Amino acid sequence: MSGLTLQNVTKQFGPFTAVKNVELTVPDGTFVCLLGPSGCGKTTLMRMIAGLDLPTSGAIRLGGEDITGVPTHKRDLGMVFQSLALFPHLTVGENIAYSLRIRGAPKEDQKKRVDELLSMIHLPGFADRPVAKLSGGQRQRVAIARALAISPKLFLLDEPLSALDAKLREAMQVELRQLQQKLGITTIVVTHDQREAMTMADTVVVMNSGEIRQAAPPVEIYRRPADTFVADFIGSTNLIEFKVDGAGRMTVLGKLIEGLAAPAGLASGMISVRPEDVHLTAPDMAPITGRVVFVRDLGGMIETFVEVEGKQIVAVSTPRARPDVAIGHAVGITLSPDVCVVLKS
Ligand code: ATP
Repeated sequence: MSGLTLQNVTKQFGPFTAVKNVELTVPDGTFVCLLGPSGCGKTTLMRMIAGLDLPTSGAIRLGGEDITGVPTHKRDLGMVFQSLALFPHLTVGENIAYSLRIRGAPKEDQKKRVDELLSMIHLPGFADRPVAKLSGGQRQRVAIARALAISPKLFLLDEPLSALDAKLREAMQVELRQLQQKLGITTIVVTHDQREAMTMADTVVVMNSGEIRQAAPPVEIYRRPADTFVADFIGSTNLIEFKVDGAGRMTVLGKLIEGLAAPAGLASGMISVRPEDVHLTAPDMAPITGRVVFVRDLGGMIETFVEVEGKQIVAVSTPRARPDVAIGHAVGITLSPDVCVVLKS
């Protein structure tokens, strides 16, 4: 099978398990982001894919071949890791051509490839510039070009944009994604920034405590989070307890939600409802009622905090659809069954 496959990959440091039974398939030409909080095992997993660390158990396959024990330099990888800075004493062109030079590529081919990559990263004519004379964003683009010079099978980037300011970072996310699509190169990026992952990835792999909690397209991760951790980690959400009555019907905030199927064998659990899916109405228009306790006007959107049965529910609306409410007002809340996602605990 082509692409990258991780089979039951585990990494232990002494008694501590940093990565646990990871199963993942990355099809050729796709863009995957490993996303999760600090210490969840993203970098450890990436280092094993790169061959910088050996798994304690499990196997890694690339293009059908078992590469678990193959050294990094024989894996056909392009890498942009924070620890792999540009060579400061070389020019931009020499940096990009570095791996071609050590592979003995003819000078003319090196120059052609450097020019091709410089135009791809929007820095034509920069070949002779010392790297010391580049901005942060330009350096990062050169690091990307250097990693791509050998046309690797797999492109690995660990927090490639984290040193850049917010605006440049956003622009580079789009650039990196466009470059990946143009080249069709299988790419894996480690990030702790969910917006970055949502912008770039075909598949977002959400990790926690060394395990994959969900691997799915960004929209699915957001709209159909698999469990409480993913729902809470991605964007903001309302986590609300549900109970199942004797007739198998689900109640949320003390009221029956018609059309919401209760999972078999569960007497209670949690649902996730995104704030933009909470609709506020007049109190006599909805089964669930509460009282407004706070309104946050962020310009582009308005958050209304409503207390219901001792729990705060947040509703988000655009300024045009601004609910006509103020602190202390009673309001109705409508939750349609299709926006209530039942979570695994
Ligand atoms: P961050 O976003 O902060 O970089 P991460 O998700 O990349 O975090 P890892 O660097 O993979 O996390 O670390 C996962 C866990 O493994 C952490 O608890 C870390 O302390 C531990 N760990 C990583 N490398 C080693 C090591 N060489 N020896 C012992 N423990 C390690």
